[in-house]
Amino acid sequence: MAARGQRPTPPRGAEEPAPPHATGPREFFTVRTVSEALAGFRPPGRTHVESVAVDNALGRVPAEALTARHALPGFARATVDGFAVRAADTYGASEGLPSYLDVAGEVHMGEPPEVEVRPGTAVAIATGAPLPPGADAVVKVEHTQAATSELLEILRPATPGEGMVRADEDAASGSELVPAGRPLRAQDLGMLAAAGLVEIPIHARPRVTIVSTGDELVPADCAFLATGQIRDATAPALAALVREAGGEPHFAGIVPDDREALASKLRAALGESDVLVVSAGSSVGARDETAAAIASLGEPGIWCHGLAFRPGKPTLLADCGGVPVIGLPGNPRSALVVFRLIGMPIVRQVGGCIDPPPEPTVRARLERDLPSAAGRLDVVQVQLKDGEAVPLFGSSSLLSILTAADGYLVVPEAATGLAAGSEVEVTLYR
Ligand code: AMP
Ligand code: MG
Repeated sequence: MAARGQRPTPPRGAEEPAPPHATGPREFFTVRTVSEALAGFRPPGRTHVESVAVDNALGRVPAEALTARHALPGFARATVDGFAVRAADTYGASEGLPSYLDVAGEVHMGEPPEVEVRPGTAVAIATGAPLPPGADAVVKVEHTQAATSELLEILRPATPGEGMVRADEDAASGSELVPAGRPLRAQDLGMLAAAGLVEIPIHARPRVTIVSTGDELVPADCAFLATGQIRDATAPALAALVREAGGEPHFAGIVPDDREALASKLRAALGESDVLVVSAGSSVGARDETAAAIASLGEPGIWCHGLAFRPGKPTLLADCGGVPVIGLPGNPRSALVVFRLIGMPIVRQVGGCIDPPPEPTVRARLERDLPSAAGRLDVVQVQLKDGEAVPLFGSSSLLSILTAADGYLVVPEAATGLAAGSEVEVTLYR
């Protein structure tokens, strides 16, 4: 990490001297790097644990590791259609010199075996049926041939364990089926169902309240705009990112640029929120009003006011009585980029997620040089064209850059830029 990113992290809530480029009242202005924020901003609040039916648990976060109450599948099973045998009886078998075994009967699907495999015998078995006592392998039907209705030719040798799974091969009794903190995937639900776990302890979805601020904002359903008015574009997009992070968004409305109105809206929202998100009010002048309103919500209070991040410098993070409060830049593009990078991990963390699903990425060749200041992390939207990542530039106010982008790349804090032709990792927008 470069010099500017190396300032030591003070304990949460501690005051840090204002950097020389700060403006406005000093007490709030604490600039951090993105890595400091991701590693160090950890309000303690977590959602409560509720019981959820496995059928409804896709994407939900188990509050504890879920373990097998008994071995799975629970009995040794055939994995091929054929004949259960003693492997030793098949040693040396070949098409030219088969082993001959007496067919002692068959096992039926879904029922305990009624026959045993004694030396010199075989028992017919279908995929998934329980192995009869005495058998230690299943020979595929294709590797056998009926000599008579009761006599079987084995054309290839079987090794012990072939054509079958052990009684505890999918899960030993007491073993972990899915870990705590990893959102459940389709296959996890299948495993839990196989284990007979139908109701599981799950973290409640974090309730994320979204507040938009600005005298110029009107709701999206406003058909006609007076000059100067704009529709609130950020709130619905943030709500979608909240859902993607496993949270439940609640829109608390648009608040005018008024410190008291904002403070009272935030105070009312805080008690019913696991995470509180305020967008805009980050321009010089308004910034300190927003910071003051957030600072009034509770201790330990503001953790950083300003991120060494483009586009997202005017980001504010606070811990108000254990509830994370995120102040986002006003420009919708910046707000969404910051929320994806900083806000979504916070929502996941509050919802008990410790192992988020990896983002889809592709590697591409950078089409042109990308300069960046050392100590600052840059997120750059790109289009992918014939294996090249083509950066999209424009004002942070332009949402069209996000809608045109296939994904984004990150110029890390330590880098002073990326050279044209270098290989970059592009995170895809889903
Ligand atoms: P501010 O941080 O309040 O100075 O806002 C910066 C810019 O973002 C201004 O041009 C605002 O009009 C714009 N902006 C703020 N909030 C929103 C929003 N919810 N939707 C669209 N644009 C917004
Ligand atoms: Mg504003």
